[in-house]
Amino acid sequence: MQQCNICLDNVIIPVELTAFSCSKKNEINCYSFKRICEKCAINFFELNKPNNSRKNIKKCLFCDATINPQEIFDKPYKKDFLLMSLDENKHNCLYCNFSGSHLDLNNHLENNCPDIIVNCLCGTSDKRNIIMSDQHKITCYFFKKCLVCSLFIYSIDYESHLLQNHSMNQCNICQKPTLLTISNHLINECSFRIIKCKHCSKNTVANSYLDHIIEHTKDSQTRINLLKDILDKEYKIYQRYKKEIEDLYELTYGTFLDL
Ligand SMILES: [Zn+2]
Ligand SMILES: [Zn+2]
Ligand SMILES: [Zn+2]
Ligand SMILES: [Zn+2]
Ligand SMILES: [Zn+2]
Ligand SMILES: [Zn+2]
Ligand SMILES: [Zn+2]
Repeated sequence: MQQCNICLDNVIIPVELTAFSCSKKNEINCYSFKRICEKCAINFFELNKPNNSRKNIKKCLFCDATINPQEIFDKPYKKDFLLMSLDENKHNCLYCNFSGSHLDLNNHLENNCPDIIVNCLCGTSDKRNIIMSDQHKITCYFFKKCLVCSLFIYSIDYESHLLQNHSMNQCNICQKPTLLTISNHLINECSFRIIKCKHCSKNTVANSYLDHIIEHTKDSQTRINLLKDILDKEYKIYQRYKKEIEDLYELTYGTFLDL
């Protein structure tokens, strides 16, 4: 196995640095035949630290080219899978008790190792099984709980998760998943669609339509109360007329009038 040009040990997860100005694609360069461990590359560029707390200059290991690690946002290296596949030795994980081929180790570190320190997009760095625990995901802005299956999904992957796992689309207006196409959803289902009130023809947002109808009911109740008042008064006036007529009839004809 090749030697790492930083730790001088057998290289583990070999990478080729690609970020220096000397590493031109498709041309033989400082790193064409040199490999360093992924871990050494991460330490070299201080990739585990936030950009603004890294050193602001790093020199190529072999020439005068320099780079500012504070300006590194993509991976400044690529893995050498061919070299890993040629390695016949078994490797132990540095963090847990996993052991396997070099390619298996790479896959283990990248996806499964529970104890390796990983960075969440939110800036927290901790053991993978802590970052991947529900306790972290509940509070982390970069995860979203799927409204359909309740699994935590990276926010940026949420739309494709809905489509692939539930055949649903995500409406960016009401933020809810739907089985309809988005255009259909916006017309028939979205809680932010505009609907016309059939009682007053006013346009209202669907999720406030109920409140709107309740307002209509209150108005109606007020009118009923007003009419009841008027009815009460009118009834009293009627009663007074009636009484006067009855008295007068009795006085005039000596009998009772049946109105
Ligand atoms: Zn190394
Ligand atoms: Zn160089
Ligand atoms: Zn491990
Ligand atoms: Zn997080
Ligand atoms: Zn889901
Ligand atoms: Zn919607
Ligand atoms: Zn109305």
